[in-house]
Amino acid sequence: MGAPTNRPHDDAAPDATFDTELPMRGVPQPSRAEALALPGLRISRHPVVASKLTALRDATTSPAQFYALTRELGALLAYEAPADLETEPCAIQTPLESMGGRRLAGGGGVAPILRAGLWLAEGVRQALPEAQVWHLGLRRDERTLRPIHYYNQLARASNLHVCYVVDPMLATGGSAIDALDLLTAQGVRQLRYLALIAAPYGLLALRRAYPETPIYVAAVDDRLDERGYICPGLGDAGDRQFNTL
Ligand code: URA
Repeated sequence: MGAPTNRPHDDAAPDATFDTELPMRGVPQPSRAEALALPGLRISRHPVVASKLTALRDATTSPAQFYALTRELGALLAYEAPADLETEPCAIQTPLESMGGRRLAGGGGVAPILRAGLWLAEGVRQALPEAQVWHLGLRRDERTLRPIHYYNQLARASNLHVCYVVDPMLATGGSAIDALDLLTAQGVRQLRYLALIAAPYGLLALRRAYPETPIYVAAVDDRLDERGYICPGLGDAGDRQFNTL
């Protein structure tokens, strides 16, 4: 099938047959193979990422381990992802002599989608300690899966040129697209999206809305269940990080 066109991304109000408890019931989903063929999708092949992601998925992993792993995975993905970040020349003095080096150019930022993106963003900051952090309060309405906006300070972002939107789970793509819309409206020129696990449905929706935006993930899973959870996935990333299950 082609890009998804069904209800969780439609602006129209749900119709009479829409099941508010099971919003993905009966919604056709693209295959994993379709998602893997998308341009601009980069899936980590790092064995350490694979191993930590497996531990993260495990239902017996404690919240303390879960948030530590999330942060570590954020750092690992960020080290892999920003190979195209701009650098600028700088002059330094080693203990022996002066030399020319390179440092990351300014104007870089990370936009964690609250609340699940918080620890992933902390990991990204290990790789990019100078990054600006612009929290985006977007939560999904569990009945419609549509994102609800409740916080952003982007109006104050005057020197933000490249920004990573981070959220552990790319499910329907609704929050991801909304976050990128907010940053685009703010005039941010170079956008990236970084997640741990993506569903084919969300990937196709995101690629359709933002054909050029690089997407970095640790894994692409099979499908969304009827509630909109990624399968096999890892459950609710926010609840598992913050011990609110
Ligand atoms: N958000 C989560 O935390 N988990 C999912 O599987 C989907 C969305």
